[in-house]
Amino acid sequence: MPDTMIQTAAPQSAGVTHLDALIIGAGLSGMYQLLCLRDRLGLSVKALEAGQGVGGTWYWNRYPGARCDSESHSYSFYFSDELLQEWQWSERYPGQAEIMRYMNFVADKFDLKRDIRFGRRVNAATYDEAANLWRVSTENGEQYTTKFLITGVGCLSAANIPAIPGLETFKGEWYHTGSWPHDGVDFTGKRVGQIGTGSTGIQAAPVIAAQAAHLTVFQRTANYSIPARNAPLTDAFKAWTKTSAAEIRTTMQSTPNGHPFLISPRLALDSTPEEREALYEAAWDYGGLQFRATYQDMMTNKAANDTAAEFLKAKIRGIVKDPETARLLSDIDHPFASKRPPVDTNYFETYNRDNVALVDVRAHPIQSISETGIVTDQGEYPVDIIVFATGFDAMTGPLFKLNITGRDGLALTEAWSAGPRSYLGLQSAGFPNLFTITGPGSPSVLCNMPVAIEQHVEWITDCIAHMRANGIERIEADADAAEKWVEHTNEAANATLLPLAKHSWYLGANVPGKPRVFMPYAGGMARYRAICADVAAKGYEGFVFS
Ligand code: NAP
Repeated sequence: MPDTMIQTAAPQSAGVTHLDALIIGAGLSGMYQLLCLRDRLGLSVKALEAGQGVGGTWYWNRYPGARCDSESHSYSFYFSDELLQEWQWSERYPGQAEIMRYMNFVADKFDLKRDIRFGRRVNAATYDEAANLWRVSTENGEQYTTKFLITGVGCLSAANIPAIPGLETFKGEWYHTGSWPHDGVDFTGKRVGQIGTGSTGIQAAPVIAAQAAHLTVFQRTANYSIPARNAPLTDAFKAWTKTSAAEIRTTMQSTPNGHPFLISPRLALDSTPEEREALYEAAWDYGGLQFRATYQDMMTNKAANDTAAEFLKAKIRGIVKDPETARLLSDIDHPFASKRPPVDTNYFETYNRDNVALVDVRAHPIQSISETGIVTDQGEYPVDIIVFATGFDAMTGPLFKLNITGRDGLALTEAWSAGPRSYLGLQSAGFPNLFTITGPGSPSVLCNMPVAIEQHVEWITDCIAHMRANGIERIEADADAAEKWVEHTNEAANATLLPLAKHSWYLGANVPGKPRVFMPYAGGMARYRAICADVAAKGYEGFVFS
């Protein structure tokens, strides 16, 4: 038996494992939650993980070019000074393979794998009110009961594969970027069709184009992208991250987006056009998500945002040589960063290659997939491999796949049929003792994820500690408090330009039939952290204990 399969002794009855807490997922969320509940609170706890290793999103997203757009020194746990000193990233942005090494380093350092059961996909979780327990089952037939059930399933783990007629007849190979083969895909000599130009497609296209005989990119919505300017870290920078860890942590915890840089207090329209151009040029040269921090009002004032949008569109037109391709790539219908802004390495430059073509599937939607290619009203584009960079059924998708049923037989899919209704993104009325790490209604994907995850895990840990210290058996979000939080989440989104992107997965708009509700909390991580702390300080206001 591989060591990843070793299980610690837990009381068993009739094949059921009884636990104080069960965590679903072994990405950053699941691992840290396991550590907190096992080592800080001393609970009997296990994590169930569908993959055969730790890593969460990075375990599955092994597509060519997969790399984080948070800078490496910020894409780290900050709860352990020792860990911060011991681990060293090699590049400005960590690639998928290096992140996997980091995840395994963390799991081994804190001896987490012995309490993670790999290859276990949860297929149902049902609350038993009489026993005040969750009954959880896995696809391979295991049964668990647990007092606390905590999901760490990520926001972007349920693949969105569009239902294009004829896919089943395709004679070539096809892959979704979010469940990429572990031994890679050899594109040598192949004609590749890539559908999708989000963060993933923008990272994948240059790498695929460099190997394949030909790449056709099918674009529905044109997208902004900022050059990453990835590079090996210098020794001086590495040393700075070690000596300044506390300062970096403070910065990340004090900003709206959890990144290790501050948003400028400047207003775009207070600058002259020349000043703006110079600042945008400097931000473009510096690269990465920090571009968004050039002006304070970039995400709240459309006219301010337009100045950035125009600058970025002009960059595209300047890079891409074929005028029609440049026009299609720069014909962007939403404000900058109202969809998650991609960060790339040579994305627009890739369209200057002889072996790359762009197809506008907004004007000419994909009608079907034939045995040999992708078909629009312009005819068939013959391909050997199709890459679906088509994103995810975000935020609610991974939770719905767990088949969660709460009190009185209420299914989560039913409770959230008009959109997620979660208090603080942590708990939903009718689902006692169920916590959702980075759930809808929390900053999650609008924040540098490790920062959001640490805050949620620590809040949940403190809450469970409080319950145990006070002999409290059950916590459940109050329905009114949840409704008010949903309203506040809507207000926070509406105070920004984020809802102006009509095709955004933040709104669920990428999945046919999904309710259009802005899911993450756009009020900022620092504000959200303060709200959660205040709720706890007021005796967990808005939650009902029993
Ligand atoms: P995405 O942003 O949802 O992009 C999916 C793309 O597929 C969009 O261009 C979408 O077009 C297109 N698409 C979907 N269905 C289609 C259809 N039926 N026909 C044609 N086109 C279709 O997904 P993603 O690129 O995987 O990124 C998701 C999120 O993951 C990112 O926003 C980011 O948060 C995260 N991510 C992060 C990194 C990183 O850290 N560097 C890398 C990758 C992903 P529409 O826009 O028209 O819907």
